Amino acid sequence: MVEKEEAVSHFIVDMIEKDVAEGRHQQIMTRFPPEPNGYLHIGHAKSICLNFGLAEQFGGVCNLRFDDTNPTAEDVEYVESIKDDVRWLGFDWEDRLYFASDYFEKMYQYAEELILAGKAYVCTLSPEEFKEYRGVPTRPGTPSPWRDRPIEENLDLFRRMRAGEFSDGEYVLRAKIDMSSPNLHMRDPAIYRIKHAHHHRTGDSWCVYPMYDFAHGLEDAIEGVTHSICTLEFEVHRPLYDWLLDQLSVPCHPQQIEFARLNLTYTVMSKRKLLELVRDKVVWGWDDPRMPTVSGLRRRGYTPESIRAFCRKIGVTKMGSLTDIALLEHCIREELNASAPRAMVVLDPVKLIIENYPEGQVEYLDGVNNPEDPEAGTRPVAFTRELYIERGDFMEEAPKKFFRLKPGQEVRLRYGYLVTCTGCEKDPVTGEVLAVTCTYDPETRGGNAPDGRRVKGTIHWVSKPECADLPVRLFDRLFQVEQPDDVPEGGSFRDYLNPESCEQIVAKGEAMLLDTEAGVRCQFERNGYFVVDEKDSQPGKPVFNRIVPLKDSWGRQHKN
Ligand code: ATP
Ligand code: MG
Repeated sequence: MVEKEEAVSHFIVDMIEKDVAEGRHQQIMTRFPPEPNGYLHIGHAKSICLNFGLAEQFGGVCNLRFDDTNPTAEDVEYVESIKDDVRWLGFDWEDRLYFASDYFEKMYQYAEELILAGKAYVCTLSPEEFKEYRGVPTRPGTPSPWRDRPIEENLDLFRRMRAGEFSDGEYVLRAKIDMSSPNLHMRDPAIYRIKHAHHHRTGDSWCVYPMYDFAHGLEDAIEGVTHSICTLEFEVHRPLYDWLLDQLSVPCHPQQIEFARLNLTYTVMSKRKLLELVRDKVVWGWDDPRMPTVSGLRRRGYTPESIRAFCRKIGVTKMGSLTDIALLEHCIREELNASAPRAMVVLDPVKLIIENYPEGQVEYLDGVNNPEDPEAGTRPVAFTRELYIERGDFMEEAPKKFFRLKPGQEVRLRYGYLVTCTGCEKDPVTGEVLAVTCTYDPETRGGNAPDGRRVKGTIHWVSKPECADLPVRLFDRLFQVEQPDDVPEGGSFRDYLNPESCEQIVAKGEAMLLDTEAGVRCQFERNGYFVVDEKDSQPGKPVFNRIVPLKDSWGRQHKN
């Protein structure tokens, strides 16, 4: 389990506190109930932190339950990835790993119980007729001609459904509730359907499967869940949840509580859309570092702590909203600013020649490993006559406020010397700058002038002969617009894909970076936080992913 994090407070905490104060439960039990039909995403992380967090806060337990009642979309690959992700986020379901499919027999028995009580019937309407009979909220629906089928006939048909006598869709079992309810979910909803499909756990044992609304409350009740927390769209299903549990001889009646799902700018979160991106190879896979999946964020370099911190910051409410992805980025920056060692890497190199520095000489300067952490110490950084600097740190014709290299201007080389730009060498045909030239002041080792003269600009650099080539991937948002789900008629969320979401370059970095192990994070000074990719790197051959650039738009807007 994770180290105790501060207790949070929101309306669900208040509700549970009240239940506990009134002695309603011995022990709180929540659950995280993913359907194994895709990988978990950051929205699921919110639900995981909420459910496991509440259990922890109230000294209770949280189950991991796979809601695997729909055989066609589900797969063991998803089951395994979900387990990995929940564990990686720092949560422990101990011995409470459950599968809805383990309850199929019990659910079937509950369905028979409902039939015997005269509260369910087998119906032969086609899906189109079903919809037509159900009607609209403002007018009562029309009862199915099969609504008053005798109990014995219902039981016989339902058993034959199970036995495989019928084909898909020929019959459904429906709860007999209220065809004039303003809530369409109460107008005799389907609770069992025929589906001749292989299930990843139960194989071919079943050809009838329970519908979500019937199954979910039963799963909760069978396990003894006290608080069944779900997203807002299930609010209108709650009367059905309660009705079913009231009719049946279940061991307990859990309380369903709804909260607003997480929506993030520049992100799609529907599993269907994420699957489409994977299937059509728009991204490298579910764990592509640009994906909002937990495995994608992990590969991108996010830590479990930063994701948990994000989930604490966004809070839990009943109001649907859109969260700025900059907040998520802020959380990882805040963590890595304190912990990540620094290094110098030039992403877009151009040569800098120090004309008065001896040829062939190498000296080692002290690079500060982490200015936020005095314990982190220093490292030797090779300094030579020829260096690489960022192309953007030189301008031949520069505005007054440009404090980096321009002819005649003095700047500080980080951890090194003060240098004064003397000009540049250009390709006579293209005009491209091939090298920037400067002279250094030998009296300024470490970056300060003995006479105290002020130098505004500081730039990073690496030694040309002593540096290493580093493959680096600069990720940008996968979508170009804030709300890619918001598409006009006839459009697709894919129209908003950012064609430049991954730029792959070879950077010039301090040679020690070659020894960075997979999964290790560091700050490339002025360029952002990076992690060594866990999949594409080999020992001695790291591939770096940029997690985030340094500029924190969220932190800047929300100072104090
Ligand atoms: P589907 O697109 O298949 O309906 P889903 O996102 O609802 O997917 P589930 O596997 O059913 O997927 O989700 C498991 C749990 O995670 C549910 O309790 C669901 O309410 C919660 N959840 C899913 N998406 C979000 C989200 N964006 N924010 C918060 N919780 C979420
Ligand atoms: Mg769902």
